[in-house]
Amino acid sequence: MSLDAILARIGAAETAAQRPLGSVQLIAVSKEQPDERVHAVLAAGHRVFGENKVQESARKWPDFRAEFSGVQVHLIGPLQTNKARQAMGLFDAIHTVDRPKLAQTLARLADELGHCPDLFIQVNTGSEPQKAGIVPDATDAFVAEVRALGLPLRGLMCIPPVDELPNAHFAMLGQMAARNGLAGLSMGMSGDFETAIAQGATHVRVGSAIFGARV
Ligand SMILES: *Cc1c(COP(=O)(O)O)cnc(C)c1O
Repeated sequence: MSLDAILARIGAAETAAQRPLGSVQLIAVSKEQPDERVHAVLAAGHRVFGENKVQESARKWPDFRAEFSGVQVHLIGPLQTNKARQAMGLFDAIHTVDRPKLAQTLARLADELGHCPDLFIQVNTGSEPQKAGIVPDATDAFVAEVRALGLPLRGLMCIPPVDELPNAHFAMLGQMAARNGLAGLSMGMSGDFETAIAQGATHVRVGSAIFGARV
């Protein structure tokens, strides 16, 4: 477990980018990790985690939340509308709002339940056909639509194409957030979180560099 090492690297990247220490939130991506490893990171004091599946989160997080206070779990994987209700009870933030139907479902549930997780729109910055996310050309209109629904939209999220340098994708996401007045930028993973911080990331999603390879 190398939580301290990752936190130190985040601090160094914040300083190098002349950003305040603590301006970047580490989301420790615990998907597919053995419970003992997640427990060790909780015991070391970290409280913000990322998961990509509703079912897996429903199995593991109620017990961890009972044992540790102040836990936040962020959904960073795709969300089917038929799991949206369950997701609203499990997650403190959803980073993968990627289509009007999902936004409409979340808005209906938010009215009914009286609360809603913080939301990020996932942007498919590489316009990859197999990848989730709203394409760049449609993003401004979708931001307006999500806001018109009264949802708590905090920022944008992206997963750059695996076979490209991430820099241009991070820059594009930053420009789209800035012109839409959005403060949150969820970008950067184990291999590129320092690059993302240099380009304005507010949330980095780091899994294997903290926990080791997924099993
Ligand atoms: C798995 C995952 C991560 C973490 O990936 P690592 O390379 O293990 O840091 C980050 N973001 C998303 C959306 C993921 O699915």
